[in-house]
Amino acid sequence: MSLFDGQVPLLKPWLGEEEAAAAREAILSGWVSLGPKVAEFEAAIAKLVGAKHAVATNAATTALHLALKVQGIGPGDEVLVPTTTCMANANAIVLAGAKPAFGDVDPRTFNLDPADAEKRIGPRTKAIMLVDQIGQPADLDAFKDLAKRKGIALVDDAATAFGARYKGTALGGHGVPSVFSFHPRKMITTGEGGMLVTDDDRWAERARVVRSSGASVSDLERHKAKGTILQQYFEPGYNYRLTDIQAAIGIVQLGKLPEMLRQRREQAAKYDAAFAGIAGVHVPYVPSWAEPSWSSYCLRITAEAKVTAAEMVRRMAEKNVSCRHGIPPLHVEPCFADEWKGARFPGAEAVARETMFLPIFPGMTEEQQRHVIESFRTAIRA
Ligand SMILES: *Cc1c(COP(=O)(O)O)cnc(C)c1O
Repeated sequence: MSLFDGQVPLLKPWLGEEEAAAAREAILSGWVSLGPKVAEFEAAIAKLVGAKHAVATNAATTALHLALKVQGIGPGDEVLVPTTTCMANANAIVLAGAKPAFGDVDPRTFNLDPADAEKRIGPRTKAIMLVDQIGQPADLDAFKDLAKRKGIALVDDAATAFGARYKGTALGGHGVPSVFSFHPRKMITTGEGGMLVTDDDRWAERARVVRSSGASVSDLERHKAKGTILQQYFEPGYNYRLTDIQAAIGIVQLGKLPEMLRQRREQAAKYDAAFAGIAGVHVPYVPSWAEPSWSSYCLRITAEAKVTAAEMVRRMAEKNVSCRHGIPPLHVEPCFADEWKGARFPGAEAVARETMFLPIFPGMTEEQQRHVIESFRTAIRA
C-alpha cells in the first residue's frame, strides 16, 4: 500500500525499480563512496546544462557554500539574498563566514527584484545569491549585468529549477556558477544531494578539493595508482561527498527528466486553464524569457477572492488535498528578527500572505488532478 493512499499529496518523488536496481548494482560493485558513478553523474549533468564542470556534493546547501568559498567570499562580507527563500540560502552564507543581507522580491515571480537589489548593495556586499524560486528562472541577465557593474560575485541557486530554461538556455549553462538540489522535493532526487556547475577551471578544481577533506588527490585516483601517489593538504576542507550509490540513482533519474518536465508542464497548463478568470485568483506569472521547471505550482489569492490563501489551504485539507500556504520570508525568523526588526519587504510580505501551493508531481493521475481542481473551485466559492 502506498504511503499516500486516500489523499492527494503536495508532491511525491518519482522513483521505481530502475533506481532500486541501480543502487543495488552500485552497492555490489564494491565502490560505494565518491567514485566512478559520481564522475559519470557529474559529466552527464555538465553536458545536459552546457557547463564546463559539474561538482557533486551531498546537498545544495554545501554546493552553495562551495560556490561562495571558491569565489573568495568569507568573513566580513555580506551576500545579498532574497528574503523569500528557504533557510538553506542563509545557512550557506553563514557557513562561508559571511552575513546574509536580505533583498525584496517581485511578488509575481517570487524572485529578487533587480531594481530593489541594486539599491541594497553596499560597501560590504561581495556577492549576490540569486534564487530561481520554486522552479521559476530569475532575470539572470539583469543580475549578471548588475554584478559586473558592481564588481561582485554572482551565484545562481537553481536548487528547484533543474531543467528550467532562461532565454532558451538551460539554467547552469549561462556562465554563472549555479547549484542544483537532489532532495526529494526537487526535480530529480538522489535522496539527498547537490551539484555545483561552473565554467571556471580553477573554481571547479578547488571545489573538488575542498569538497573532499581538502585532499589534493581523490580516493579514486589513489586507488587507480595502486597506492603509489599520496595526497597533500593545501587547505582544510569538508566532507561534502556524494556517494556512488546516490549518483547511480541520479543517473537513472536524469533519464526520466524529460518525461518529468513534460508531465509537470502539462499539469501546470491544466491548472492555468481551470483557474483563469476566478476573481482574486492569479495563476503563475511566467515572463516571456522563462521556461519554469514547475517544481511547484503556486497561486496568489488576493483580496477580491474573499477567501484567504491560508483558509483555502485549510478547506483543501478537508477535501483530502494537501496544499501549503505561502513562502515565509527569512527576515522574520527568530535568528534574524532582532537585526531586521522594522525592515520592510512589501513584495515578500505579499508573497507570504497571498500564496498557496497546489499538488504537482510526475505520476499524479488525471483523476487526482480533477479532484484538486474541483475541490479548489468549490472551496473558493463557499
Ligand atoms: C531546497 C533548496 C535548497 C537546499 O537544498 P538541499 O539540497 O536540501 O541543501 C536551497 N535553495 C533552494 C532555493 C531550495 O529550494
